[in-house]
Amino acid sequence: MTTVPATGTTGTTGTSSIPLLVLGSEADPASERGVSCPGELPPASDPGLVARAAAAKAALGDRLFVLGHHYQRDEVIQFADVTGDSFKLAREAAARPTAPFIVFCGVHFMAESADILTAGHQQVVLPDLAAGCSMADMATFDQVEEAWEVFEDAGVADDVIPVTYMNSSADIKAFVGRHGGTVCTSSNARRALDWALRKGSKVLFLPDQHLGRNTAVLEMGLALSDCVVYDPHRPGGGLTPDRLRAATMILWRGHCSVHGRFKKTSVDDVRARIPGVRVLVHPECTHEVVLAADDIGSTEYIIKTIDAAPAGTSWAVGTELNLVRRLANAHPDKNIVFLDKTVCFCSTMNRIDLPHLVWSLESLARGEVVNRIQVDEETAHYSRLALDQMLALP
Ligand code: SF4
Repeated sequence: MTTVPATGTTGTTGTSSIPLLVLGSEADPASERGVSCPGELPPASDPGLVARAAAAKAALGDRLFVLGHHYQRDEVIQFADVTGDSFKLAREAAARPTAPFIVFCGVHFMAESADILTAGHQQVVLPDLAAGCSMADMATFDQVEEAWEVFEDAGVADDVIPVTYMNSSADIKAFVGRHGGTVCTSSNARRALDWALRKGSKVLFLPDQHLGRNTAVLEMGLALSDCVVYDPHRPGGGLTPDRLRAATMILWRGHCSVHGRFKKTSVDDVRARIPGVRVLVHPECTHEVVLAADDIGSTEYIIKTIDAAPAGTSWAVGTELNLVRRLANAHPDKNIVFLDKTVCFCSTMNRIDLPHLVWSLESLARGEVVNRIQVDEETAHYSRLALDQMLALP
């Protein structure tokens, strides 16, 4: 088990299990959440925070590359050298080998992927270690190993190709790499599943059941009855060996706590409120919501669709609120609303704020690397196999 040095470096091991911790307190270096920030943060009320971040960034110059996920706050995204989804950002980092410091404004699994894909001399920093992902936490290495034993007992393990969503820990990506599977994103999930079902007769899809189900049923024409849900908290996943043998898609019981909040009633309400509105949602939404929507796609697809929409059109967008707000501000000629009536930020993404960014940049400018995210070599090796397989998808 890797420990946390004084500077807050985190490690990833192949054997961690993740206890539930109160967000922002206690410490679990291998988890996606629950770790407190070890630093002396500037006060959030400091009026000089923007100037301090700009000064530290300027002092670091080309030695620094700041990545900003689409769901980050405006106050943070203004300092990003590039914005994108998790995979695009990891590749951008790998394409900048001259920058020794990569500050990843996103969540823990994204920083892990950046560390895996970048060169050995590049150090990846996550400004707040409590910025995890609740979905990634829903599939731990121990649980997935146990599931594989259940498949072996049912006599199906040799038929199963594991496919994990990018939104998973490095441990899980490595498990998938070891078992001949692939990583996927919300943009290439169908290609990944097509590939997997040519290689085996069943897929274990981790950790987001909704992306797996929506892709299998709506894009590939499988029936809902071809899909079963493996619940890691129930003996045998809550499935009989016969059900496992009959299934084509074994969906892990995980979900995104942000996209999972949208309900079909949210779609009905917005259609009643805004005549002619088009409903555009992310495939991490539930099957019911996706069925009720007009258009479905990844974060990048949502951005492109809104960019290309004619002036005067109305859109209700079902994804993280920071992104929807930015789209609305960028397109005042279009009526862009958030799909739900209540606030729906990703709370862990929002852990990255100006005080944490200023603290991490000023520490780097002083020569002190804080909150480094570092994946151990073996885990990185097998994760890379699964990531490379994704890049090689036909
Ligand atoms: S939006 Fe959902 S999947 Fe993305 S980081 Fe937040 S909890 Fe995880």
